Amino acid sequence: MQICKTITSLNSALEAFSNAGKSISFIPTMGALHAGHISLIEIGQQHADVTVCSIFVNPTQFNQQDDLEKYPRNLDADVKLLESVGCDILFYPTVETIYPNGTDEQPEIDLQGLDQKLEGAFRPGHFEGVVQVVKRLLDIVKPDALIMGQKDFQQFTIIQYMLDYFEIATKLVVAPIKREDHGLARSSRNERLPSNIRQAANIIYRTLIRARRQLGNISIAGIQASAFQDMTFDDFRPEYFEIIDGNTLDPIEGRVQDYDYIVAVTAVWAGDVRLIDNMILKGSKQ
Ligand code: AMP
Repeated sequence: MQICKTITSLNSALEAFSNAGKSISFIPTMGALHAGHISLIEIGQQHADVTVCSIFVNPTQFNQQDDLEKYPRNLDADVKLLESVGCDILFYPTVETIYPNGTDEQPEIDLQGLDQKLEGAFRPGHFEGVVQVVKRLLDIVKPDALIMGQKDFQQFTIIQYMLDYFEIATKLVVAPIKREDHGLARSSRNERLPSNIRQAANIIYRTLIRARRQLGNISIAGIQASAFQDMTFDDFRPEYFEIIDGNTLDPIEGRVQDYDYIVAVTAVWAGDVRLIDNMILKGSKQ
C-alpha cells in the first residue's frame, strides 16, 4: 500500500493508475479502523480497480474540543489492517493540507435543513463540517465511487444531496451496517464501553428489529414509546428514537402505506458513550 501524506504524492500515485485507465473507489474515514471500515474497503474493491482510503480526524465536524482530543488515533494498527485487506492507497493528510486557507471556507450549499435534524439538533455544526471535508476530499481524489456506511444514515443522505447539488459525477455506494456478534453496531466508541454495558447495548439492535416488526401494526407513537421504555434502564438513556421518511429525514405522519422509504434512527447514551444506530424498515435509497 502506498501511503501519501501530501496532495502532490497522492496525485502522482493516482496519475499512474488513471493513465492505465483504472477506476477509483474512495473510502473516507477518521481512522481507529474496525471491521465496519474494512467492509467498506472490500465493497470499494468490488466497485472499482483501485481503492483509496483516507484517515483524517476532521476538526471542523467536532462540536466539542474535548471529543476531538479524545478521538482514538492508532495509525500503525490502521495501516496493518488496510494492508491485510489489500487497500491500494492511504491518504493521510495534515489539517493544513486539507484546509490551506484555514477552516472557515465552506462549500456554498443550502442543505435545506437536512443538517439541522436528528443528529444535527444535538451536534450543531457537525454536518457542515462533514460536508466541508467530504467536498474537499472529493475535489482532491476525484473518485468514481464513494463508499460510505449506512451506520451514519443522516451523513450519507446529506452527502448524496451534496453530490446531486454540485452535480458531482461520483457514485455513492452505501455499505450495510457491520455488527458485533450480539448485534451492537461496530464503532470505535465501543472500545470505551465496559464489557457488561457493551453486551447489554445489543438492546439497541433488538429494539430496532422490534420496531420493524411493529411498523404497520401499531401506531408510530406506540413504537416510539416502547422503544424509549426498553432502552431506559441502568446506564442506558435514549436521546431520540424516530421513525422517519428516509428522503426528507422528517418523522413520518399518517399512513405507513403513503411512504416508500422508512427508517428508524436512534441515539442512545450507554454510560458516557453516545451510540447511534438505524434500520431501514421499508424500501431503500434510490
Ligand atoms: P468514521 O471513521 O467513523 O468517520 O467512519 C468512516 C466510514 O465508516 C463512514 O462512512 C461510516 O458510516 C462507516 N462505518 C462506521 N461504522 C460502520 C459500521 N459498523 N458498519 C459499516 N460502516 C461503518
